[in-house]
Amino acid sequence: MLSVQEGLQAGYSNMFNLNEKVAIVTGARRGMGRTHALLLAQAEAKVVVSDIDLKECEQVVAEIKKAGGEAIAVKCDVTNKKDIDNMVAKTVEQFGKIDILVNNAGICQFKPFIDLTDDDWDKTIDINLRGYYWCAKAVVPEMIKQKYGRIINIASIAAGQVGVGFQGLTHYCASKGGIVAFTEALALELAPYNITVNAIAPGVIDTPMAASIKTDPKAYEASMARIPLKRMGKPEEVSGLVVFLASDESSYITGDFIVADGGYLST
Ligand code: NAP
Repeated sequence: MLSVQEGLQAGYSNMFNLNEKVAIVTGARRGMGRTHALLLAQAEAKVVVSDIDLKECEQVVAEIKKAGGEAIAVKCDVTNKKDIDNMVAKTVEQFGKIDILVNNAGICQFKPFIDLTDDDWDKTIDINLRGYYWCAKAVVPEMIKQKYGRIINIASIAAGQVGVGFQGLTHYCASKGGIVAFTEALALELAPYNITVNAIAPGVIDTPMAASIKTDPKAYEASMARIPLKRMGKPEEVSGLVVFLASDESSYITGDFIVADGGYLST
């Protein structure tokens, strides 16, 4: 991080700059993962765009390259350990290190608890929780080597932190609550290696995952009644927070849970 004097001389132009940093984003073919990748690249990070669908990752990489950034696409299903190991190996082979992991890949399937099957439960926990654990486990040795790292776990306001429940989402809420607890505990263990671990809790964000809220007038109205800013969030309004947590400007923040929800949890 620059000293105040150096910052003044540079006109603070280096704030939030990720030049020379290497970032992996999971679930990055669309939605918020895509904008995390684009904004990290805009901040000059070298970005690994990963998701189940390689072709769509390649389109995101093409967008980044067109804008003058550096990125590669890697197919990675976060429920497949071999895919994760391959993603880490390809990142190190291409860029030499890993500085930032954005655990973002997730699913959200509405189903009332009484209809929920073990398979529904397992699928959500496997992707949303174990996938985060596996990806963190795979990158941490690389971060320890260089005594530097930033792990950013995308949770949700459905994580159960402030007494807000979401009907039809017991499995999703359990996975997101698990992410927050995982973040707090991991932050303690990785602090000695100068690796920070934080969670972001987006509110209702306009991505394909939240499409059903947009198309169902009742669900949309119910959401708006809870959101003081009276609109859904834009993906990039969460990605700005990702860039901040990935940057040196967040160096004293770890084990935290930062909310971007248009005021939802304040009501
Ligand atoms: P999205 O548009 O559905 O994007 C999620 C991406 O993750 C998709 O490309 C999806 O691919 C991918 N994915 C699913 N399973 C995967 C797996 N096993 N391995 C790798 N990638 C996988 O959703 P989003 O809204 O951008 O959500 C991003 C994150 O934010 C998620 O963790 C979500 O829970 C969280 N979040 C979203 C909201 C919201 O309102 N949108 C609010 C709070 C938190 P497929 O399409 O093929 O499944």
